[in-house]
Amino acid sequence: MRTVIYPGSFDPLTNGHLDVIQRAAKLFDQVIVAVAKNESKTPLFALEERLQLVNASIAHLANVRADAFDCLLVDYVERQSAQAIIRGLRAVSDFEFEFQLALMNRKLNERIETIFMMPKDTYTFLSSRIVKEIARLGGDVSSFVPPVVQSALKSRLARPAA
Ligand code: ADP
Repeated sequence: MRTVIYPGSFDPLTNGHLDVIQRAAKLFDQVIVAVAKNESKTPLFALEERLQLVNASIAHLANVRADAFDCLLVDYVERQSAQAIIRGLRAVSDFEFEFQLALMNRKLNERIETIFMMPKDTYTFLSSRIVKEIARLGGDVSSFVPPVVQSALKSRLARPAA
């Protein structure tokens, strides 16, 4: 059984993440979307909320499940008996950090491979940060995130018109 881990903050999950998940689901027997606790990043959504939003958005994918983790990624990958880590690459700007992370993870555990996937071109400009910014300013994010995420953003960031 080939299992891959897709780790991230997912604060919140976007259609770009979902696109990568769907591509990975075609290549592997099982995909685990691993939501990092990441308290240092002071997320907008608590871990449980992020996990719930991922779960609601992957319900249609039979070989994908979500989980939370709060330890060294390579240790989590071992614990799940997974073979690889998936990361998404949007633009050259992602490359340097992702390259460093992949090589560090290889140093920590030679057995685990990192695989990079590119999303559909229309999602290459998407990030959780930009989606939160648009939602905060009252913009329409319906084409960037699944409907459950859209409503969660709306209720979290709702504010009276200035
Ligand atoms: P992190 O905080 O670990 O960067 P993110 O939730 O922001 O977590 O992203 C998780 C992974 O998904 C990263 O590899 C990131 O590059 C990738 N990613 C984020 N947004 C997109 C997108 N629109 N298209 C493809 N990959 C993406």
